[in-house]
Amino acid sequence: PQRRQPDMYSLSPVAIAHTPFREKFAIPRQPMLAPAAVGEIQLLPPFNDPLAFDGLEQVSHVWLIFLFHQAMAAPGSVPRMRVRPPRLGGNSKLGVFATRSSHRPNAIGQSLVKIERIQTDTLLVSGVDLLDQTPIIDIKPYVPYADSIDTAWNHIAAAAPVPIRVDWETTALEAALQLQQQTGKPLIALIEQCLSQDPKPAYQQPSPERHYGTRLWDIDIGWHYPTQDCICVDRVQRSS
Ligand code: SAM
Repeated sequence: PQRRQPDMYSLSPVAIAHTPFREKFAIPRQPMLAPAAVGEIQLLPPFNDPLAFDGLEQVSHVWLIFLFHQAMAAPGSVPRMRVRPPRLGGNSKLGVFATRSSHRPNAIGQSLVKIERIQTDTLLVSGVDLLDQTPIIDIKPYVPYADSIDTAWNHIAAAAPVPIRVDWETTALEAALQLQQQTGKPLIALIEQCLSQDPKPAYQQPSPERHYGTRLWDIDIGWHYPTQDCICVDRVQRSS
C-alpha cells in the first residue's frame, strides 16, 4: 500500500486546555491520578457555540483527544520505533505502540477526565494530565459499557503507581496555605497529589541535597528527597 503523505489530512483544534501545569515535570503520567488537577477546556471558533455541548449534561466523563504540542517531532526526523516510558524507570525501551509515551507518531494523546461543570462554551474538568495551552482536537463522551473492560490486563502498567509520602517544611506549608487562601485554588491538594506520583525518573537516586522544582499556575514549587521513599516540599512562592 502506498504510504500516506504527511499533508494528506489536516486537523485543527476544537478547544484549548487551560490547566495549572506550566511545565511538563511533575504532571501526573495519566489522568485521574490527581483529582485536584482541574482544567478548563475552552471551545475555539467555530465550535465555541453552547450547542456543541448539547446533551453533555447527561455524561459524567469525557475523552480529551489532544496534541502533545510540546513533544512534536521535528519535520523530517527519523520516527522512533521504541521509546523510554518513565514507568520503566526511564532506562529501558518499549515499542512506541506498547506505551502511552508523548513521543509518538502524530503526537496524539488521549485522556479520560471527569466533567465538573459545563459553562456555556467551556468545560470544567478534573483529573487532567495536560500542559496548559494543550490543543484539543476532539472531545468524546466516555461510554462505560464499551470503554471499561473487566477482564482487561496490561502487564506493563498493571496498577496505578504506589504513591510516595509527601511531607512539608513549615515555611513552605505556611506559604502554600496563604497562597491557597489568596487564589482560591486547591494548591495544597494539587501539590500533594502530583508529588505523591514521584515525578523524578525511577532510576534516579537523589541525595538529600538535590533540589527539584516545577511550576503550578504562577507558583514555583520546590522539593527534595530526605530519604529515597519520601518527598519534602521546601519552597512555595509566586514566580518572579
Ligand atoms: N493520558 C495521555 C495519553 O495516554 O495519551 C497522556 C499520557 S503522557 C504519558 C502524560 C505526560 O505527557 C504528562 O505527564 C506530561 O509530562 C506530558 N504532556 C502533557 N501535555 C503535554 C503536551 N501538550 N505536550 C507535551 N507533553 C505533554
